[in-house]
Amino acid sequence: MENQRADIMTKTAARAISRTLVSAAGIIWSAFAFADDSPTTPRPIVLRAAHLFDSVSGKLVDHGVVVVAGSRIQAVGSEARIPVDAVRIDLGDATLMPGFIDAHVHLSQVLSGNWYADFYNGILRFPAEQALYGAHYAKLTLEAGVTTVRDLASSDYISLGLRNAINAGMIPGPRMLVANYAIGSTGGHADQDPYPPQRIAPADPIKGVCNGPDECRAAVRYQIKYGADLIKFMPSGGVLSLSDPVDNPQLTQEEMNAIVSEAHAWNRKVAAHCHGDRAAKMAIAAGVDSIEHGTFLQDDTLLEMKARHVVLVPTLFTGDWMSDKVDQLPPVVAAKARAAMSHQQQMFQHAVKLGVPIAMGTDAGVEPHGMNAREFVLMAGNGLTPAQALMAGTANGAELLGIADQVGTLQPGKLADIVAVAGNPIVDIKATQHPVFVMKEGVIYVGGK
Ligand SMILES: [Zn+2]
Repeated sequence: MENQRADIMTKTAARAISRTLVSAAGIIWSAFAFADDSPTTPRPIVLRAAHLFDSVSGKLVDHGVVVVAGSRIQAVGSEARIPVDAVRIDLGDATLMPGFIDAHVHLSQVLSGNWYADFYNGILRFPAEQALYGAHYAKLTLEAGVTTVRDLASSDYISLGLRNAINAGMIPGPRMLVANYAIGSTGGHADQDPYPPQRIAPADPIKGVCNGPDECRAAVRYQIKYGADLIKFMPSGGVLSLSDPVDNPQLTQEEMNAIVSEAHAWNRKVAAHCHGDRAAKMAIAAGVDSIEHGTFLQDDTLLEMKARHVVLVPTLFTGDWMSDKVDQLPPVVAAKARAAMSHQQQMFQHAVKLGVPIAMGTDAGVEPHGMNAREFVLMAGNGLTPAQALMAGTANGAELLGIADQVGTLQPGKLADIVAVAGNPIVDIKATQHPVFVMKEGVIYVGGK
């Protein structure tokens, strides 16, 4: 298998491995300069499978064929011209699909099931140490078929570091759009836990905590200054924080307007964490691009989202995963989790009926990384057709992230982010949970034997 992989390896992969070897051996960079400059011309790859999922039409077509040249898709369909020197990979009774896009993850962290141990590690673990965990989570995510993620908040610039290391070919992982610190008010869901201020200094706008429109603008500018691709903010309370209600508005209308207008002025999209309905109405009025969770949203709010094309990222997996673990949480958090879980699926079913645009997002990090496709199963079990659920995690995700010209569909010219799942995912959506083949930008990470 290794030989075959080497055979079809693109220059990007060759660079990645040479850099890894350099790091591992501790040899000076220049000694391996030839590896970067080698005239590797990757052979085209032809992928064949029984079916292909078209995420534009939502239809499954038979006799799936995709031709990959370098990092991009060259041709699609059974009529495609096959280059004579192509490496042929036949995936048998499988379905070729665009790489999955998870619009809500936290790749730099994960809950272990022991809230108190996580709290301890959250304080004592060094950022460099935590980043190594993040590298592992990034690999698991990619191997689960997720080739692009939006990382909606992390501490200490760990997700930013993961993004840069992945882009440099140092570690395997999905393409990442990162938010850096989430932005919100003192005591709100973006703030750190209520440590005595004599022990741990209160957070400031650099860490996303702001009060008043001017500080909120500063908080946005700091995230962008340090490399954020988008802005995440907290109009409403959240579940896993100690000192706020789950659903109250935590910023004024003027503060929300400042955050969104400042982000948009810098061409950054804005994701709004909202459980509460009143906070969501304010965030939508401020002009946000997506509402995350949306737990307690009322029908008039959902209709307003539809009218303004504000995307719902429902994160159904959170409630599904936590349902049998709530009793292990501190009582104040457990009460909020129970309230949220009792509304989540019902809200989603209303959103589907009303035609709200939906993108797939898991909040992975609340759940273990690499189980992302469970969200497809849950969306399909709560009103979306399997095809609509798959579109939410491919074409719709690409549009929300603002990269639909690069990914999200299997079309000539797009980046070769390609997943294959066994059989027919329209008939058995659970097949998405165990992809048999994963390629990102023309490099194979799973399958292909
Ligand atoms: Zn989240």
